[in-house]
Amino acid sequence: MTGSLASADVGRHNLALVAGRLAALGSASRSELAQATGLARGSVTALVRRLERDGLVRETASIAPSGKGRPRTLLKLSGDHLAVLTVLVDADRATAVASTLGGERLARAERRHGRPMGDPGRVADVAAELADGLLAELGREGRRVAEASVVVWAPVGGEPTVVLADTDLDWGRVDLLALLRERSPSLEALGRAGRLQLLADTAVAAVAEHLDTGRPAELVYLKSDSGIGGAIVVDGVPLDGSHGLAGALGHLPVVPDGVRCGCGQRGCLVTVAGPDVLLAAAGLAGLAREAGLTVALDAFVAGIRAGEPRALAAWRTGRAELARALQILIMAVDPAAIVLGGYLAGLADELAEELAAIQPGIDGVHLTPPPVLGSRLGGDAALLGAERTAAARALADPAALAP
Ligand SMILES: [Zn+2]
Repeated sequence: MTGSLASADVGRHNLALVAGRLAALGSASRSELAQATGLARGSVTALVRRLERDGLVRETASIAPSGKGRPRTLLKLSGDHLAVLTVLVDADRATAVASTLGGERLARAERRHGRPMGDPGRVADVAAELADGLLAELGREGRRVAEASVVVWAPVGGEPTVVLADTDLDWGRVDLLALLRERSPSLEALGRAGRLQLLADTAVAAVAEHLDTGRPAELVYLKSDSGIGGAIVVDGVPLDGSHGLAGALGHLPVVPDGVRCGCGQRGCLVTVAGPDVLLAAAGLAGLAREAGLTVALDAFVAGIRAGEPRALAAWRTGRAELARALQILIMAVDPAAIVLGGYLAGLADELAEELAAIQPGIDGVHLTPPPVLGSRLGGDAALLGAERTAAARALADPAALAP
C-alpha cells in the first residue's frame, strides 16, 4: 500500500471514529472527543471541521467554565439532508419510521396488514406502500435516506439475508427484501446501493435495551410475546454465531426427550414456557384467539398478580422453566445484567426471586445472580435499536454522507 493510500484510510477511519463517538455520547466538546477517541486534540479539530463542512456535525451551545479557562463548545450530530428509514413488520401491522442520524423521530406511519397467513406478498404490499409514503415525504423535505432497515419478528439468516421462519405469519423461508424491492423502486435503489438490511427484532431490541441499561459488559435479553426469543450482547454487539442462530433462547432444549418443537428438536423452552402453552394452561386460549396475544398476556399477568388459581398454576410451571433457562445462561455467559422483554417485563421481580432461590454457582462459589430487569422500552425497543444500528452503519463511512 502506498503512503497516501494508507493515510487516506487512516483519515477515513478517524473520521468514522469521531462521528461514532459523538453519536454514542449525544453531545461532546472537542476535548471530550479527543479523550474518548484517543486522538490528538488538533486532529479532532480538523476532523470536526470536515464533518461540519459536510453538514454532519454542528455546534450547539457554549458552556461557561466553572473555574479558569475557555468556555466549552458542545457539538452534536446534525445531517439535515439525511434520514434513516426503519420498517417493522409484526404479527398485526407494518410500522415505518424516519429519524435523524442522532435518533430524533421525523415521521411515523403504521397500517394493519390483516394477518394474511402464509401470504408474504400481501404483507409486502402494505409495507412497501407505507415505506414509499414516508420516502416521498422525506424527499419533499430534501432528505435522502442514508440507511434503511426492515425488522421482522422472526429469525433471519443466509446470504442474501432472508426471513427463516415467521410462525406468527406462517412463513417459511421468505426473501422479504426481494418482495419489497419488486414493489418499490426507491427500496430497490437502496438495496442496489447496499443500504437496505433485514434484521431480527430481538437482536436490535437488545441493542436498545443495552443502551437503556447503561451498557453492561454482557447482557442477556430474553423476550416473550408471541414465542420466546432473545439475544446475548457482548461489548455492545449482539452475538450472531456461525449460522446467525445465537440467542435463539426459545429453543434451548430444557426438557430431556420432551415434546417435539417446530424447530425439529425436542423439549425446547418454548414448548413448556411459551405464551401459547401458558395461556392454554391458564384458560386464556380463547381470549388469545378472540382478542389477540397481547390482550391475553396482559390478562395473564393481571391474573398472576391477583392470585387467580389457574393463572398462578400455569405461571409456577412456566416460571420454573424460564428460571432454569436463565440459570443455564448465567453459567454460560456470566452476564452483568438480564433484561426481560414482552409480557415478562412485568414479571421480572418473580423471576429474580426464583433465580435467587436457585443460587447459580460452582462448588459453593455462588454467583450473585445479576440484576433481572423488566424492559422499560416495551414494544418500541426493536424500532429504537434498528434506528441506532442503522445510524451507526451510516456513520461508519461519513465521507459517503456528504451532500
Ligand atoms: Zn425448538
